[in-house]
Amino acid sequence: MNKGQTNTFLESSKWKQQFPGLTALFTTKNGGVSKGYYSTLNTGLHVNDENHTVVQNRKIVAEHSGWELNKWIYADQVHGTRVVQVTSRHAGMGTEAYHEAVKAADGLWTFDSGIGLSLGFADCVPIYFAEPETGYAGVAHAGWKGSVGNIGGEMIRQAAEAGVCADKMHVLIGPSIGECCYRVDQRVIDRIPDQINKKDIYETLGEGQFRLNLQELNKQLIIGAGVKEQHIEVSGLCTACQKDLFFSHRRDQGKTGRMSAVIGWRES
Ligand SMILES: [Zn+2]
Repeated sequence: MNKGQTNTFLESSKWKQQFPGLTALFTTKNGGVSKGYYSTLNTGLHVNDENHTVVQNRKIVAEHSGWELNKWIYADQVHGTRVVQVTSRHAGMGTEAYHEAVKAADGLWTFDSGIGLSLGFADCVPIYFAEPETGYAGVAHAGWKGSVGNIGGEMIRQAAEAGVCADKMHVLIGPSIGECCYRVDQRVIDRIPDQINKKDIYETLGEGQFRLNLQELNKQLIIGAGVKEQHIEVSGLCTACQKDLFFSHRRDQGKTGRMSAVIGWRES
């Protein structure tokens, strides 16, 4: 993923070319109006920033990407694996008030165009899903719990139930904390599903200390769910390393803003 004409978000140039009717963006920390820890483009309503500045920031991103904020839908994320189908009737949920967000969901998907599905991030992995023939779009939030719980596979499973072939699905794995900066303990490693080739996923640093590659873990799980490897793009970007671009929960010791991942087919 890389910067386009605006500094407020990144996009995949490959996806832009391949899917001209699709918006799939990941916001940066730049170009907004928040102050202090949230400087400047915090898009998270639940992190003690001023509500009206967060809404202002979201409106800036919406405008830069050719949308109206009231067409987007946010979720109340809980580090689970619950995935919810939304429709145009849900447009605007959680965009200006956190308590109006879709309850307890870490994945959103739809067949409706004209709505943008939005989730918040500060190190966890944003996973975007698109299938142009059916007009399917989806986004998932995968921290270590969602990753080992295979929320990506759950997205593919629900899409398949609704008639979307996994082998036609395209997946984009966005910026998250990278293997370079993500130390975990044995408790996390023990929960990695058995089907995963663990050698590619983590490195042992010392007694009970590991470096985990969440983007690669999710990629393997999504291939396991039936998506073609050549249909998966991995950003490889690390939110903790790229201080000038991203908020990072771990690097900023919890006092930080949130980026948004937004996906949606524009109304034609
Ligand atoms: Zn890093």
